[in-house]
Amino acid sequence: TAEPEPKQIRRLQDEVINRIAAGEIIHRPASALKELLENCLDAGATSIRITVRDGGMKLLQIQDNGCGIKKSDLPILAHRFTTSKLSKFSDLSHLSTYGFRGEALASISHVANLTVITKTKKESCAWKAIYVDGEMTPAQKGAAADPKPCAGNDGTTVTVENLFYNVPARLSALRSSSEEYARILDVVTKYAVHNAGVSFLCKKVGTSAPDLSTPSSTTKQAIRLLYGQGVAKDLLTAEVSAPRKGKRKRDADDDQPGGGKSDEDGSWEAQAHFTSANYHSKKFVLLLFINNRLVESSRIKKALEACYTSILPKGTSPFIYLSIQLDPTTVDVNVHPTKREVHFLEEEEITERIADAIQARLAQSGERTFEYQTL
Ligand code: ADP
Ligand code: MG
Repeated sequence: TAEPEPKQIRRLQDEVINRIAAGEIIHRPASALKELLENCLDAGATSIRITVRDGGMKLLQIQDNGCGIKKSDLPILAHRFTTSKLSKFSDLSHLSTYGFRGEALASISHVANLTVITKTKKESCAWKAIYVDGEMTPAQKGAAADPKPCAGNDGTTVTVENLFYNVPARLSALRSSSEEYARILDVVTKYAVHNAGVSFLCKKVGTSAPDLSTPSSTTKQAIRLLYGQGVAKDLLTAEVSAPRKGKRKRDADDDQPGGGKSDEDGSWEAQAHFTSANYHSKKFVLLLFINNRLVESSRIKKALEACYTSILPKGTSPFIYLSIQLDPTTVDVNVHPTKREVHFLEEEEITERIADAIQARLAQSGERTFEYQTL
């Protein structure tokens, strides 16, 4: 047998590097949408409108009324690692924004056609820019690549077309348009509950009635609207918090920006909305937000499921919306490219405290129903 010969090591071409990196962040239309939604929320939008064609594979358009993007920033907007949100590594420990890596728009531009129309309050017209592989490009060959003036409201409209046109393997791994659309709706629905003060709209191109439309409301109203009266009428709530020993507990209304010092003391708090024993469904609906990010955690999921095993019929599940705010210095949001999983300190203990609170509340409401029934 021949001796194995070492092959020469070469640097990958930038185009290949960028397309591989994009594939780690943008898995499917719903993951592109999640990044774009987070950008709208980071921009302070109070209204977000989403239009979809073919499950987002042909078109995904997100319009917001946020702060807009400065015209002078448009040339580097879709470069990798260009961001307005992070400047030092240590900033990662007190992030208040969803984004921080400047990778989403860059990634999208490497696997789709990306167009951005944006207007800041100060600008008298909107500006439109088209991106291919990270770079601003002219609309027609030979024309200048500069942003073009156009009509538009304050805010930003991002249009993503022909997702994965250059990644055939990824495209063929996607499900039907209706399944991809269902995933998109699921993401929008969860963000709409968590950001009940923001109005959301999501529709397919060519249909007049939106599939999702929320006014600016309260969390409970949003849950009722999006998950139905069945869930809303049996909803219980619980709050848990743990100030760090020996340090000042954060004031409930001490939400001043810059007053963040008292935040970084290991304290945490959680709010849960969950159905009582009177409600059960075949599917476990869990909305889990950690520091405002929609995430997944099998540990938390298991612990919450366990709260219901003795009170729900076998094979049925509750609805739970759980939002946890942790001291940002104890959370690592950078463990997963889609930021879908997060790691945090004292995960086991915090999970247990939350599950205990939910269980206690469920027991209390159970007793009450029981008393009423026996009276
Ligand atoms: P990140 O969110 O990690 O900074 P992105 O690639 O998602 O990276 O966005 C790059 C930058 O573009 C952001 O930092 C922000 O300044 C700007 N941006 C993106 N989307 C919007 C939007 N909808 N409204 C205002 N600015 C935006
Ligand atoms: Mg972003």
